[in-house]
Amino acid sequence: VRRVIEHTPVIEIGNFEGIPLHAHAVVGEDWSVLIDSGVAELQEEFAALCRDLAKGGQPIRILANTHAHHDHIGCNRTVQRESGCLIMAPRGAEPWIEDMETNYREFALLHPDVHPDSEEQRREILASMEGPTHVDGALVEGMVLRPDGIELEVIEVPGHIRYEAAFLERRSQTLILGDVIVGTDWGLFPGHVRPSLLRGSLDKVRRLLDEGRAKLVLASHYPAMTPDEACARIEGVERYLSDIDSRIRDALSRRKAGAAHADIWAHVCDAMCKQREFRSAAMIRAHLEDMAERGEAESIPSADGSERWRLRR
Ligand SMILES: [Zn+2]
Repeated sequence: VRRVIEHTPVIEIGNFEGIPLHAHAVVGEDWSVLIDSGVAELQEEFAALCRDLAKGGQPIRILANTHAHHDHIGCNRTVQRESGCLIMAPRGAEPWIEDMETNYREFALLHPDVHPDSEEQRREILASMEGPTHVDGALVEGMVLRPDGIELEVIEVPGHIRYEAAFLERRSQTLILGDVIVGTDWGLFPGHVRPSLLRGSLDKVRRLLDEGRAKLVLASHYPAMTPDEACARIEGVERYLSDIDSRIRDALSRRKAGAAHADIWAHVCDAMCKQREFRSAAMIRAHLEDMAERGEAESIPSADGSERWRLRR
């Protein structure tokens, strides 16, 4: 646990394996909001944070999950048990937090024909979450959480996942993000549900930064950023989205009669040196849907019911 900036109320917890993993506690004068709860392996860190804040007279009263991916809700149970807090999440995210099977099925099993389920994968994802918790309230655009001394505004940023919230702490001008600035240089694609939706949310974050509303940007998987650094990351994500599109076009142009989803997926993963896994199977499908909407590509039904895609010309 470390205080990110002197004299400001935001503290940071956690770091996990290769990719940084942060949760942020926004500490008011009388109570605190914890943003995200990491993975189940961080139980002791989160329990200690709950106790420390309670001892200091600023107990966690709300745990706000930015989104329902396993590495953001992992210790929900420990945090609630230790602090007695309410749990809030973006409206729509409830089923993934309240039922782990739904979470796993809708996250990892969307395209078993492209990337099949495995015991190892199931164990890894499910073990990173302690289990279901009830969601007590919905986070929606414009709502403000107000412990004394704090004004924490909710900003909806869908695209990496269907339902995601970011937070602007107005007093310290600190912007706290989950995964909207997706990781572009990891060994795997972190995934996104619709590139067009993600571009819209990245634009929204950039506008907020351009307006000078934040001095510091904190994100789940990056070190603390200045607004300029965050803008550079946003541009990096936009280039990455275009790069994925052009690799897909490349895969389609090689097979005039149409390419199967699985072949396009394998081509793009290999071309961009990413692990072939379930997140990218859904991501590639989403790029194809966007390309179909723009009139660039189309799906062609085949006799066996499988789906093939080709460029429109
Ligand atoms: Zn995520």
